Amino acid sequence: MTAAPPVPEADACSRCAESSGTCCTLSPGNEEYCFPLSGRERADMQAAGAGPGSFCAQANTQAFLDNICRLFPGEAAKIQALFPAGGEHDRLAVSPEGACLLLGPSGCILPRAARPLYCRLFPFWIRAGRQMYFEFKDCQALRESRGGAGLLKRLGMTEPGVFDLYHRLREAWGLSERS
Ligand code: SF4
Ligand code: SF4
Repeated sequence: MTAAPPVPEADACSRCAESSGTCCTLSPGNEEYCFPLSGRERADMQAAGAGPGSFCAQANTQAFLDNICRLFPGEAAKIQALFPAGGEHDRLAVSPEGACLLLGPSGCILPRAARPLYCRLFPFWIRAGRQMYFEFKDCQALRESRGGAGLLKRLGMTEPGVFDLYHRLREAWGLSERS
């Protein structure tokens, strides 16, 4: 696999990589729950050095669909049209231990701007038009902060930036904005 050289990070994610599995590792057997990657995201990653082995095809299983539907409540019909039963989508490839193949000892080896939008947004999300974050016990930034403002700071993010990433993710995944 061709990959970009490691990019030093001075934020919580690099401390996370040194102390825990980070959000870049899943439990083996849960690969189908990994978020989908759009062609645009793959192209940005490849331009930054991610090789073809960084991605793999994943069947649109019911468990995958249920998980995406939970992320976008009330949008099940759109999601089922985007990810039809019997079809497949691309996701990040992971090691037998569940680690993303782009995870280095100090965090993601891709520059932040070239990472998948979901990676850049996590642990933040938008629900009913409001910013929220997922409680993930292994998140170093969450452990170091006491909520939204501290979390944003530790991840080098801003609230407008979170909204912008969320809307870009929706567009990349083919989800039109809700009226
Ligand atoms: S692409 Fe980078 S940020 Fe996303 S899961 Fe892989 S290592 Fe983590
Ligand atoms: S977002 Fe949280 S869980 Fe993910 S790498 Fe950064 S500190 Fe770790």
